[in-house]
This record gives sequence, C-alpha cells and structure tokens, in this order.
Amino acid sequence: IGTHIMKDSNFLKEHNGRLMWHPMTSPKDSADAPPTIITGADGVSITDIDGHRVVDGVGGLWNVNLGYSCQPVKDAIAQQLDILPYYSTFRGTTNDVSIELSYELSKFFAPDGLSRAFFTSGGSDSVETSLRLARQYHKLRGEAGRTKFLSLKKGYHGTHIGGASVNGNANFRTAYEPLLPGCFHIPAPYTYRNPFNETDPEALAQLCLQALEDEIAFQGAGTIAAMIMEPILGAGGVIPPHPSFAPAVQDICNRHGILLITDEVITAYGRTGAWSGARLWGIQPDMMATAKAITNGYFPFGAVMMGQRMLDVFEDNPNAKIGHGYTYSGHPVGAAAALACLAETQRLNVPQNAAARGTQLYEGCRALMEKYDIIGDVRGGYGLMTAMEMVSDRATKKPIDAATAQTVQEVAYQNGAMVRVSGPNLILSPPLILSETDATTILTALDAGFAAA
Ligand code: PLP
Repeated sequence: IGTHIMKDSNFLKEHNGRLMWHPMTSPKDSADAPPTIITGADGVSITDIDGHRVVDGVGGLWNVNLGYSCQPVKDAIAQQLDILPYYSTFRGTTNDVSIELSYELSKFFAPDGLSRAFFTSGGSDSVETSLRLARQYHKLRGEAGRTKFLSLKKGYHGTHIGGASVNGNANFRTAYEPLLPGCFHIPAPYTYRNPFNETDPEALAQLCLQALEDEIAFQGAGTIAAMIMEPILGAGGVIPPHPSFAPAVQDICNRHGILLITDEVITAYGRTGAWSGARLWGIQPDMMATAKAITNGYFPFGAVMMGQRMLDVFEDNPNAKIGHGYTYSGHPVGAAAALACLAETQRLNVPQNAAARGTQLYEGCRALMEKYDIIGDVRGGYGLMTAMEMVSDRATKKPIDAATAQTVQEVAYQNGAMVRVSGPNLILSPPLILSETDATTILTALDAGFAAA
C-alpha cells in the first residue's frame, strides 16, 4: 500500500485546496471553498470522500467515455506496464504498441481522409502540434508568409501559448497576454447571442461565413496558415453550428489555400453520436487534433491525425524534418490504453448510445426549460454534449450570478448527479455508456437543483 492512501480523511480535508494550485480556479477560492474530493468510481458513478455516490454527468472531463470500470483498458495498461513501461519514439527508436496504434487509427479515421498519426500527451499538445505543423507545411511549400491562424470566438483550444492565442474566450487569454501575434477570431454560430442579432441558425451560419471571408480578404489569404475549429464548440458552452456551416468553412479554406484543423479533443471517438465531428458534418480536415477519450481518461495521451495535403508535403521530402515532439509521444502505456479503447468503442458502438441518451438528455433539459425561467437556452441534440445557459432575466438574457449557478450544481450533487458549471453554462458530458436510468437520475437531480435556485 502506497503512503498516498494511508492518510485519513481528516488529513486530506485539512490540506485540500491549500497545497495544490488547481486549474481554472484561484488558490484563494480553492482554499476558501475546497473542491469535492473524489476517492472512487465505478460504472458511470463517482464516490466522494464522505461516501456519497453520484452519476458523473461530467464524464471526468469529457473524457471517460467508456465509464470507470472499463476492464479491457485497465488490463491493457497493467499488462503494458509489465512488458514495456516506456520507450521513446524520437528519431532512431520506436515501440511496437505505437506502431499498432497508428495502424488502427489510420483505419478508424480513413473515412475522414486521415491516415497518419502524430502522438502527443494530451489535448493542448495536440492543438500545439497541429498549429506548428501547419506553419511548417506552408514553409515547406515555399509559402513562408502563411503564418496567421483563424479560429472561432468562444472556441477552446487548450492552454499552451499557441492554443491560448486561438482561444476565443478572454478568461483563458487576458492574464497571459501578449499571446501569439497573427491570430484572428471569427464570430461563432451561436444563435442565443451574436453580434448580428440573428436567431435563425442557417442565416447566422451564413453571416459567420461571410465574416470569415471578410477576415481572409482583410488579412490576405497568403498570410494565413490555418483555421482551427471545434466541430461543435464544447467548453465554450456546447454550440452546435447549423449543418451547413462546417462544409462551407472547409470550402472557403480550400479555396484560399488555408489548412483546416478540426479540434476534436472532445468530439472524436463518438461523443457527438458520430465517430468524429468531421464525419458528423461530412468534412475532411487537413489535420484533426484528438486526445481525452482516446484513452478513456485513464492515461494522458493524444493523437493528431494527418490528411492527404500533409502527406503530400511531409512525406518523401528530405527537408521535412519535424522539429517537434514530446517525451511521451507514442508512450507505450498510452498506446496500449488507446488500442483497447478503440476496440471497446467500436465493439460497443458507443456513438449509437451517445445519440440515444443524448436525445433523452437534450429533451429532458428542454422540459426543464419550460419549468424554470432561469434556463435561458438549451443547446445540444448531437450526442452526449448538452448545455443549459442560465440567466437571471430571460428578456434581457442577463447571465446568472455565480452563487446561484453554484447552488444549482450543489443541490444537483446532493440529489445524485455531478454536473459542471462553467460561467453561466451548466454542461453535461457524461460517459457515452450512460443508461436510460442514469440519464433520468441526472435530469431528476437537475430538477432539484433548479428548484432550489
Ligand atoms: N481542445 C479542446 C476542444 C478541448 O476541449 C480541450 C480540453 O478541454 C483541449 C483542447 C485541451 O486539452 P487538454 O486539457 O487535454 O490539454
């Protein structure tokens, strides 16, 4: 038994929130209101230090798609630790498992037109990798002037400097400026709030596309390396665009020689009810950044998948040295976990369940909106990503105050479901193996949460 599990709960509670700086919160906040200590999990449920067990409506952090009891993934990790716990894939060596994984991923993503993998240690790394390789792609083609990046407002692309620079939310940017120069943000197809006051999703998509065209004309297409976007914006509050949007973005990028990167750290591997976000919208990106569910959250890992344009420039080219990579690129334990996850994801056909349970949750949330004025907007309808935007006044759409949002979350937790509050949004991203009963538990808990607000 390791010393880390020999401490009693009083010890843990005493030190909780004080010695560890937590992501996305201030040290003072976590000291004053210490976070819930999760000590165990099984199926789609988590248990806290006081023994309170709830359905995990967050799915870890959008990543535990197959739940907490996925034995094949656990076994794969344990076995790989015994066989080969680490070996590098840097120049000159590789490991057997990462070769096998690249083979399986190239099959899995063949319908997306993607056939090569570059391995990373997580989502932010996958984003950074795609941005860097986009610049290198243009340099190799003799268009060194193409260095800028386009992205969507409200988009989230992780926390490295490049990713933060294309992020479309000030919360993740302002304290870290100056960020990368040459990053420009296009209005998101966010029907509830947008600068055009357009409430029709299709018309709004057209306006955003026009804004994209205008920005390209303004910057000069020859200065832009890539456009990065989430197929459905996730952390920004689950914003699915009209189905016409993504194919038109691809068309615009193609016409202007701009690479299209889909950031599928959330949407790849089934969450949207399709195998990938690209497949959901019928597009073929030049690069796809993936992570999270690739290992079901059990091991930090990611993969950037490459399309034909990338192959054309990087392969058979002695100058195309990739001066980029991570100690853990192709980590054998991560690769073994990913192989098992891919197999389970396909065996269980998780997108099908994600779609069915996603519809149940989405409709359940819409029913809650009928009941509670505090819910200004419900977004989702594509698999298991749903958000409710909370307002203190429906007419003015004034965002809810943080304390009320917190009450909804806490009371829902007391009533059987962990849900996530991010600004005014209450976000649901449960494991994709959720049952009908589990989904009902989440909705009942939310009902109690809104009733208390
Ligand atoms: N890109 C998207 C779309 C994400 O949702 C996230 C994380 O939520 C990231 C990138 C960053 O991933 P990570 O937190 O694994 O670095």
